[in-house]
Amino acid sequence: MPNEMAELEALLMERSLTDMELLRATDSAPDYRILPDASVVKIGGQSVIDRGRAAVYPLVEELVAARKDHQLLIGTGAGTRARHLYSIAADLGLPTGVLTEIGSSVAGQNASMLGHLMAKYGVSTVEGAGLSAVPLYLAEVRAVIFGGMPPFQMWMRVPEEGLIPPYRTDAGCFLLAETFGCKAMIYVKDENGLYSGNPKTKPDAEFIPRVTVDEMQAMNLHDAVIEFPVLDLMKSARHVRSIQIINGLVPGNLTRALAGEHVGTIISAD
Ligand code: ADP
Ligand code: MG
Repeated sequence: MPNEMAELEALLMERSLTDMELLRATDSAPDYRILPDASVVKIGGQSVIDRGRAAVYPLVEELVAARKDHQLLIGTGAGTRARHLYSIAADLGLPTGVLTEIGSSVAGQNASMLGHLMAKYGVSTVEGAGLSAVPLYLAEVRAVIFGGMPPFQMWMRVPEEGLIPPYRTDAGCFLLAETFGCKAMIYVKDENGLYSGNPKTKPDAEFIPRVTVDEMQAMNLHDAVIEFPVLDLMKSARHVRSIQIINGLVPGNLTRALAGEHVGTIISAD
């Protein structure tokens, strides 16, 4: 047994699991990227899929073409139908865990619809994007579709305020990208990226092409283009230290972002 491992084992047997020295020792080996060549692409629910054919068909074409050069893990958002369910369930007094389950099923419906559109290209939808057959799909057809909600289901942490699940599809896609050590995390939405305010209600909001997590948190936005908890997840990420938000209604943006071009907003943790 190498010396470092023996030390780690001794610490793990003897110390509390919150001991600082023990925690540092668990982190001494270099991090391993499980799917380093794959990019996670989140297709927005409200912002893209809810717009129907006009938004979705061109993106399907772009995804199919991009597959030649990139391995794609395609996650779906939930959107308006989930909001409707949240309003009914909250009115019924049901808890966050229940809202999470029903929100997940909407993201799953969107994954299913996208899967049927991409079926003729050999692209499948998977139920859980955890390991299972994902590497095989990537190796054989270079793309796979999944519902973007993280699988916390009933065990979702309860938010400080209100009942809406705090980790939704932006967070779910990010967590997948981080765990698999993916190359990129790209959010496909309906605005060019981050603005100083919601461009739908503040037409004079300024576009922000690049921002750090700290800067964005200091902006104290009340509304944002990305779920706020993603910013905290980014701070402790080992692999995915930056994310990109692009306007998927502009043809070619996704292809350019996948090629590493700076389109939209890049948010970085460093
Ligand atoms: P998704 O469909 O992926 O869930 P959302 O609808 O949750 O995406 O988020 C994208 C939306 O966020 C945009 O359509 C935009 O109206 C809104 N938004 C709110 N604040 C901002 C901001 N500061 N900059 C850009 N977009 C914003
Ligand atoms: Mg959203």
